Amino acid sequence: MTGRYPDEVDVAIVGSGPTGSAYARILSEDSPGLTIAMFEVGPTVSQPAGSHVKNIVDDDSRSDAQRRSEGSAPGEATLNSPRAVAAGGRRARPGTFLLPDGDFAASGDGLPLAAMSSNVGGMGAHWTAACPRPGASERIGFLDATGELDELIGQADRLLGVTTDAFDGSPLGDLLRERLAAAVDEGRAPAARVQKMPLAVHRREDGRLVWSGSDVVLGDETRNNPNFTLFDETLAVRVLVDDGVAVGVEVHDRRTGETHEVHARIVVVAADGLRTPQLLWASGIRPTALGRYLNDQSQVVFAARITGIEDLPVPEGQKVAGTLGESSGVSWVPFTDDLPFHGQIMQLDASPVPLADDDPVVPGSIVGLGLFCAKELSADDRLEFSDDATDSYGLPAIRVHYALTDGDRETIERAKAQIMTLARAVGEPLDDAPFQLPLGASLHYQGTTRMGETDDGTSVVGPNSETWEVDGLYLAGNNVIPTATACNPTLTSVALAVKGARDIVHRLSDR
Ligand code: FAD
Repeated sequence: MTGRYPDEVDVAIVGSGPTGSAYARILSEDSPGLTIAMFEVGPTVSQPAGSHVKNIVDDDSRSDAQRRSEGSAPGEATLNSPRAVAAGGRRARPGTFLLPDGDFAASGDGLPLAAMSSNVGGMGAHWTAACPRPGASERIGFLDATGELDELIGQADRLLGVTTDAFDGSPLGDLLRERLAAAVDEGRAPAARVQKMPLAVHRREDGRLVWSGSDVVLGDETRNNPNFTLFDETLAVRVLVDDGVAVGVEVHDRRTGETHEVHARIVVVAADGLRTPQLLWASGIRPTALGRYLNDQSQVVFAARITGIEDLPVPEGQKVAGTLGESSGVSWVPFTDDLPFHGQIMQLDASPVPLADDDPVVPGSIVGLGLFCAKELSADDRLEFSDDATDSYGLPAIRVHYALTDGDRETIERAKAQIMTLARAVGEPLDDAPFQLPLGASLHYQGTTRMGETDDGTSVVGPNSETWEVDGLYLAGNNVIPTATACNPTLTSVALAVKGARDIVHRLSDR
């Protein structure tokens, strides 16, 4: 041991979000004799460690947990800072903080809302927990060809605790889906029809919802594994490489300021779509595709009122503090190649547009509609890492180069038309036109260390998530997804993590 760190472990994992946690869980289940150290730059903000902050009942404690997840630089633009307010529309969601240079493209599009979370559990302590399966061209062809993808996604469902029945008691959910289905289901394959959104949430016996975070992914199997240790407030500053082989990580203890080398037989970097490639760059691992093929999902949003329900017996809104309302649940309009958007329809607690004072709003009748659009992939959409400037953690500063293509703009226009169709099907659209959120709002940054079937220069890792360039270095996160998905990506990236973890189990038990 050196300070609070071991000198040597079997597997070092950087990042404690859902994907790093999936590695720890599978290793703990399948090879509990392996020693595992997980390093997380942020603090522990919830208990059990990594749990979703929405499960914190007390409003002040929840806000505190969100604020402590918002990075290290005082004055970084977050929803809670005056600078963010002054910046108008450029705000981060609670629990996240903006990439300072996300807005680099002055006249182009950039990713003005590119954001991260720094806390045990990562963004998985703040997410909406929607876990749709990828469909059609969102799927990864070479894993489908081997028949693996669905089995891996089934494992991801298990690890994330995905259910579809949490909102079964919602009085308006079925009606809402019937109306949406009538508008779009014709001609769709069963898997692409309107349905309940799979969510990483479960209901306790007392009726309270429990949202899954990394605590659920880790599970008791990892927490009770005496060979697993989570080190919070620990920044990985470099992957150690010897003769083309990963041999550990250099970590910086943010409590004491000391730096240590922790040697490992395998290194997993699961440090999000922006910071995973950043750490590789800082380590001198710089394959051609690193940071490239960045894709975010442009978001079109709108609101509508479910009409014709005035006489239905709707119970009082059963809103649980900080969670979704429960009258109309969460519904899903899946992606198709013909309509390349993923639709999420959820109850809003209040109308986003002013309504007349005497408007008798039926509880749960106002829903938000969101369509996420798949992007055309381009190597030019990329992260640039500085050789001189550093971020607030002292790692290479990140700049985003990102532009929509004509095809992307056309997809967004089609999504706007489609969302109007959906809103009319629901009942009464609540505004004249839908609007597009600033780019980066989806928080689903993909492709920056993408997976490939072969090492042809367009990918950073192979099908097991091991880098082509450095033996024994595995990467995890949405950054590994090679396709342009429109659906929420965490289920897919956890599935890919399961495959990578199994590969580690296999190779370490073979030695
Ligand atoms: P993260 O959860 O981001 O975790 C990465 C961790 O690595 C962080 O904790 C970070 O601090 C740590 N780290 C980074 N660099 C270092 C370093 N150098 N050293 C040590 N630690 C480091 N996704 C969905 O699929 N469905 C949704 O409904 C959904 N809704 C969302 C809503 C919100 C408000 C937010 C914020 C996100 C949402 N997401 C959603 C995105 C989802 O949370 C992410 O896809 C998921 O958390 C990614 O998991 P990860 O483990 O790859 O990365």
